[in-house]
Amino acid sequence: MDASQDKTVVIIGAGIVGVSTALSLQRAGHHAILIDKDGPGEAASYGNGGILASCAVVPVTGPGLIWKAPGMLLDPREPLFMKWRDMPGMLPWLLRFMSHANAGDTRRIAAGLAPIVGDSLADHQALARGTAAERYIVPGDYLYIYRDRKGFEDEAFSWDIRSAHGFEWEEMDAARLHGYEPAISSDMQFGVRLENHGRITDPGAYVQALAAEAEAHGARVIRAEVSDIVREGGGVCGVRAGGEVIACDDMVICTGAWSGPLSRALGLRVPLQSERGYHIELWNPSQTIAAPAMVASGKFVLNPMEGRLRLAGVVELGSMDAPESRAPFDLLMRGVRRVLPDLRWDEASEWMGHRPSTPDSLPLIGAVPGLRGAWTGFGHHHVGLTAGPATGRILAQMISGKRPNLDVTPYDPGRFA
Ligand SMILES: Cc1cc2nc3c(=O)[nH]c(=O)nc-3n(C[C@H](O)[C@H](O)[C@H](O)COP(=O)(O)OP(=O)(O)OC[C@H]3O[C@@H](n4cnc5c(N)ncnc54)[C@H](O)[C@@H]3O)c2cc1C
Repeated sequence: MDASQDKTVVIIGAGIVGVSTALSLQRAGHHAILIDKDGPGEAASYGNGGILASCAVVPVTGPGLIWKAPGMLLDPREPLFMKWRDMPGMLPWLLRFMSHANAGDTRRIAAGLAPIVGDSLADHQALARGTAAERYIVPGDYLYIYRDRKGFEDEAFSWDIRSAHGFEWEEMDAARLHGYEPAISSDMQFGVRLENHGRITDPGAYVQALAAEAEAHGARVIRAEVSDIVREGGGVCGVRAGGEVIACDDMVICTGAWSGPLSRALGLRVPLQSERGYHIELWNPSQTIAAPAMVASGKFVLNPMEGRLRLAGVVELGSMDAPESRAPFDLLMRGVRRVLPDLRWDEASEWMGHRPSTPDSLPLIGAVPGLRGAWTGFGHHHVGLTAGPATGRILAQMISGKRPNLDVTPYDPGRFA
């Protein structure tokens, strides 16, 4: 089949990446079949912080992490945890991950992330315009809250990288910060305000509304687990889901942190690890904040969502099946009490989920080498909500046989071979 003709494309996984890919493919004239074992918007795309974090170009593996990480892992006041019994299995990934914790790789990774996160607000608005999903997007500022100016200056390397990528910000002294955000504690003495960001007021409902939009325009949305990819003559011809073979011309793996087994079945080497993350929702809060904020000292975000305030963050390295830990929830709760000491709420709900993380903090977006019609769109770690629409657009262009207007080599799915 000629690459530019209309195709039937199966998208496996209906998180933000899969749903964005389905909509972009549909708008390019293809027929999309979206398959998810739990339905749209139920996994990481449900529980994230909801920030369209365009400025989040700096990966976790900044220079110095190698020296800081051991102390952080042993201190329950730090936002880095480990399921120690899973450590032996994670060690190869961890060593590769840590090998990127240097200045050169951090700049290279930032250059790879910038094109897919930098225009996130506009990307989401373009994806959702005229749909029921549009109402969940709120354009606005994004704040970083520090205890003092020194905290900000200690992160000068990251802010220099943001500046190099064109981000500008207002530095807020204590008076300006508390004028802008009256609810936050006087212990927080310094802030940074970036314009032209955005937030999603209900990430799960947003992804479900986007999936409903695709369905209303003819996509099939199927709830089933894909167990295998069916091949014929050097190309993909279908996927096996729930005992049925669903025929297709092309197939995209958008299964987030679960992408390892399906990728390996196609001969693709993918070192993928879950960076487990946590959220707490405080329902019917007595106070709100003017803009979503990254509490830099605790590395968690505060986002005012519909009817509740969501606190989300923490990295816990561990397997997909290990139970939730208590300490990350306690840390988040201590963090919000420190930042918003007068806050009261009716009820708190808790959640844990899986960020899909590669050792080089770059996603895999592109064609699976050596197998016609096989594509990947996963590995977006901390920025998948932000980068989902751009990823979907790039994949739809590639599947349509068009050249995306950016350098896609950083996302090469074959780079770990
Ligand atoms: C606590 C936390 C806070 C975060 N905050 C932010 C934030 O503020 N901003 C941001 O940009 N990002 C944030 N992220 C990251 C973001 O949530 C993820 O990068 C993003 O959701 C990944 O989307 P995805 O579509 O790749 O994966 P997912 O949303 O995990 O979706 C994968 C889907 O694949 C399905 N699936 C898996 N295997 C199969 C199979 N075999 N067959 C069928 N279906 C299958 C699953 O059911 C799931 O629905 C955060 C993450 C966490 C955990």
